[in-house]
Amino acid sequence: MRLPTPATRLIVLLGDPIGHSLSPRIQNAAFLATEVDAVYLALRCSAIELPGLLVGIARAGGAGNVTIPHKARAVDLLESSSAAVRRTGACNTFWVEDGRICGDNTDVQGFAAAVRALLGSAAGARVLILGAGGAARAALLSLLDARVDSVTLHNRSTEKAESLRLEFDSTGRRVRVLDEPGRLRNEGFDLVVNATSLGLQSGDPLPLDLTGLRRVGAALDLVYAPDETPWVRHARQLGVASTDGLEMLVQQAAAAFRHWWRREPPLDLMRSAAMGAGNRSRPPTQPVV
Ligand code: NDP
Repeated sequence: MRLPTPATRLIVLLGDPIGHSLSPRIQNAAFLATEVDAVYLALRCSAIELPGLLVGIARAGGAGNVTIPHKARAVDLLESSSAAVRRTGACNTFWVEDGRICGDNTDVQGFAAAVRALLGSAAGARVLILGAGGAARAALLSLLDARVDSVTLHNRSTEKAESLRLEFDSTGRRVRVLDEPGRLRNEGFDLVVNATSLGLQSGDPLPLDLTGLRRVGAALDLVYAPDETPWVRHARQLGVASTDGLEMLVQQAAAAFRHWWRREPPLDLMRSAAMGAGNRSRPPTQPVV
């Protein structure tokens, strides 16, 4: 990495925890390759520290990402919000434009790109989303915009899934909630998405046993692991096309890069930098059949 100068811009990741983040690796590799004069650092911060850091760094010519648990709080600090921020209530990328602090939720674009890599197009697909947190929210918005046929939400806390459904589809025509896992038995889906945090910790149960469904076209795990996640392994063993959350991570990082530098990111290099953190031998964009 080149030595910083007074002109070097500071790009940060604000969150807690940030110890396992691949973003510094992905972004610094991209900065170096494109000769952008910037450095990307991960800063662990509390909710109280977030406003001072985000606004201070933006006003000092910097920019950044926001991650768990601050994505919703960051929205209140923006002076201009993208449609994705307004519709998801979460911001994961900020920068300054015309003197105003702007924000986007690039998880929405990242998810859409990961689905395209796995399925081609999501149009007309029947999708099951497991989970109802921030990632599920970005996934739901992205899928509805991609004109899927229907989305079924299934979450440990049914009331959270129900409030997500009400927010995005009060008529219940395209989004429905299934509370009983047993009721999934007669259902077939083109795509099943794990948007729960199950799989992050070793020893976690699988988010869903796919043999309990009548049909599964493909499985997308938003959790990622250095090699492969247990749920991706489970899908692969059943012959189901599947991929983990690494492609979404790389694509949301690429979208952030576009906001900061107004130029195309070196996507393949960012993907290699992310994969280089583990011992993967196959690109995550290819379905593992
Ligand atoms: P949230 O904390 O907002 O939501 C967590 C979700 O997981 C909730 O639906 C929660 O259910 C569910 N959950 C947690 N523990 C359990 C459990 N023991 N059994 C069943 N369900 C459980 O987190 P996010 O939505 O922000 O993130 C979810 C996952 O997506 C994380 O693993 C994160 O790493 C990943 N992610 C990946 C991204 C990528 O780029 N690949 C981007 C963003 C997130 P309940 O509502 O009942 O608590």
